[in-house]
Amino acid sequence: MKRREFVSGLGLAAGLSACGSPDSTGQAGSERSQETFRWNMVTSWPPGLPGTGVGAQKVARRIEAASNGRLRIKVYAGGELVPALEVFDAVRSGTAQMGHDASYYHRGKVAAAQYFTCIPFGLNAQEMNAWMYWGGGLELWQELFAPFGIVPFPVGNTGVQMAGWFNKEIISVDDLAGLKIRMPGLGGEVMQRAGAVQVTVPGSEIFTSLQSGAIDAAEWIGPYNDVSLGLHKAAQYYYYPGWHEPGPVIECLVNKSAWESLPADLQQIVKLACQAGVVDMQAEYDWGNAQALKQLQDDPNVDIRPLPKDVLDTLRAFSREAVNEMSVNDEFAARLQASFDAFQELSSVNQSVGETAYINYRVGLCS
Ligand code: CA
Repeated sequence: MKRREFVSGLGLAAGLSACGSPDSTGQAGSERSQETFRWNMVTSWPPGLPGTGVGAQKVARRIEAASNGRLRIKVYAGGELVPALEVFDAVRSGTAQMGHDASYYHRGKVAAAQYFTCIPFGLNAQEMNAWMYWGGGLELWQELFAPFGIVPFPVGNTGVQMAGWFNKEIISVDDLAGLKIRMPGLGGEVMQRAGAVQVTVPGSEIFTSLQSGAIDAAEWIGPYNDVSLGLHKAAQYYYYPGWHEPGPVIECLVNKSAWESLPADLQQIVKLACQAGVVDMQAEYDWGNAQALKQLQDDPNVDIRPLPKDVLDTLRAFSREAVNEMSVNDEFAARLQASFDAFQELSSVNQSVGETAYINYRVGLCS
């Protein structure tokens, strides 16, 4: 379903004005500069969802503007063109040239894809950027997805999420037994290992499921998105930190044939628009979360609490177990784990004497 237009009738004069200098591009370059592309972008997000959904729209508009309309992208919310969780297959098959979602949605097809969103108790957003752009993470990601004919790029991050909304208090690990929780991906699997029951609920149904008591707890994203979904009206306890999603990367997927059909300058525009998306989305979340958290702190019906340390310690041990198991029969996952863990070990020290020490001092947690 690749729709590509070659606009040949605009004449040499238009080509020259678009390219600047005829000598630097030559006739072939002028013709190529007139080629226009119309792509579809499928996403996993509800229409207009702040952060991720808005981020998809902004990336598409930036690419159109920077390419002067040579690459136009029609964005579809989850379910509009293909089901929300079938973005990977749609890009792979070429139904859409581009996708905007998160790699851990594909872990049923490629388990190691989990690394390119987040690992429970793994890297935060800032560290994910370091690993992706400087530590070889992006190259590993592109290598993993190459056999599927997909070229991935980071295009955003929500920052560390919240552990979720609970209608039961979590005092000790025993309180996890039988707890019906909506937590997708590896985090939910870890919760199961700790005795909870992982329940699959789409984002749009979290509120009703919590309110009706069909589930006891649910994680979604963080204050900014959770308040917009009204989750603070469906549960009393809001636990932190989001150990299961410490810095989830949002991805842009490009169909490989479509990617290779683009001239080099349009490829560069796509890359830069994705990189701008990483900064922009993180800024939106940092800003929006700060406002929404204040609103929740001022709400007498909401109890914001840290998870007890022994609960976090238990979840961390089960996370390590799950991650190690992934590497046992999966050579690529083992390579990823080695790269990821090596950086996390170094970065933990750097973060603790840098960002963490500074923020702790700022909020009065150390002298
Ligand atoms: Ca989440």
